[in-house]
Amino acid sequence: MKNDRGLLIVLSGPSGVGKGTVRKAFMQDESDIQYSISVTTRDPREGEVNGVDYFFKTKEEFERMIENNKLLEYAQYVGNYYGTPVDYVKETLEKGKDVLLEIEVQGAMQVRKHFPEGVFIFLMPPSLSELRKRITNRGTETEDLIDNRMHIAKEEIELMDEYDYVVENDQVELACERIHSIITAEHLRRDRV
Ligand code: 5GP
Repeated sequence: MKNDRGLLIVLSGPSGVGKGTVRKAFMQDESDIQYSISVTTRDPREGEVNGVDYFFKTKEEFERMIENNKLLEYAQYVGNYYGTPVDYVKETLEKGKDVLLEIEVQGAMQVRKHFPEGVFIFLMPPSLSELRKRITNRGTETEDLIDNRMHIAKEEIELMDEYDYVVENDQVELACERIHSIITAEHLRRDRV
């Protein structure tokens, strides 16, 4: 029997693993899945558009959203807030459409509490040395900050067992194929219940 509600897909993983890159590549081919645009207090980067990449807000606006229960989850990351608007997620799932969140690990653990039936995918770096290389290659961080991010990443990797699937991000296209297979299988599994 067909399940009428959409599937909530949570793509998460340690800092520097390439979640954003995989998510953008993945969404290009998946017109049926809706991406949930997050709210953040960080400044827009060059080329980023309000309402497309993020909803950019002030700290006060963000804190008001927390108080008014407008966020499904939120976390602080490198000095800024990031959060998922709850109404969009609920309304889209109710319309029968799948929703994809791309969020860091603390946020994913909060979502798990509200949506245990969601599909939680942990994107994994091929190795810690490769992760360090990716963080270093961004070229935006000092050696101390890189050490700090690596420390956080190791703690985040320890939470991998809390997820339904672990997908290695050795190559973006391969990671996308694996995520696609997971979603196809999850639909088949739910629709036969
Ligand atoms: P960036 O500043 O590089 O765009 O994102 C920093 C981190 O915040 C990334 O790990 C990204 O996945 C995560 N992130 C983006 N949106 C959200 C959100 O709504 N909630 C949480 N918890 N993390 C988010």
